Amino acid sequence: MTDTDGTAGLDRRLADALERLGHGMRSLAQRTAREHGLSPLQQQAVLALARHPQTRREVAALAAEFDVTTPTMSDAVTALERKELVTRSPGADGRRRSLTLTDAGQEVARGLSSWDDPLTDALAGIPEADRATTLHTLLRVIADLQRASVVSVTRMCTTCRFFGRDEHPDPAVPHHCHLLRTPLPLAGLRTDCPEHEPEPSHSPAGRRKQRTSAQ
Ligand code: SF4
Repeated sequence: MTDTDGTAGLDRRLADALERLGHGMRSLAQRTAREHGLSPLQQQAVLALARHPQTRREVAALAAEFDVTTPTMSDAVTALERKELVTRSPGADGRRRSLTLTDAGQEVARGLSSWDDPLTDALAGIPEADRATTLHTLLRVIADLQRASVVSVTRMCTTCRFFGRDEHPDPAVPHHCHLLRTPLPLAGLRTDCPEHEPEPSHSPAGRRKQRTSAQ
């Protein structure tokens, strides 16, 4: 049966479009990683190490960010060490190993920094108001997927305990950040906020509690 008008049909087509987008970006990542002699996961690690603060530059944090097991991420980092792109040194607690890009690793990160240009170029052609609404919609979907344990770690406004939903009448600036004490325009919602703290239902302990109470 073809349903092109109802909500169910719309949801199906949106899911299909997002899936197609995911396939395209994975294929693009594979291509750019191969050009630099890396696997897609190694590429993600190099890019993350280039932009994250020291406290997030360790194997377990990267594993959580990219939804892989710690041993899988450790293998990727070991491969990067062999390629002399990353070094491990004792972290602040003397136990965890902190990761640092070597000069060669930083050069690779610079070369990779524009890997997703085809996507950002395509988005640049869309009116800003539409892009802001799309950002808002995607962040809501990702928050729901995190609640359903499909996505594990996000540092986005919609999963943050300081996020005040729909607190202002302006549809372009409806939300509020209670940490920064400022209204949040749709176009200003953050996807990797350094001040983010998970709201209880999005923390690992909160999700465990939800699962227990649902049983
Ligand atoms: S602290 Fe950051 S992530 Fe949290 S609501 Fe404010 S801007 Fe968004």
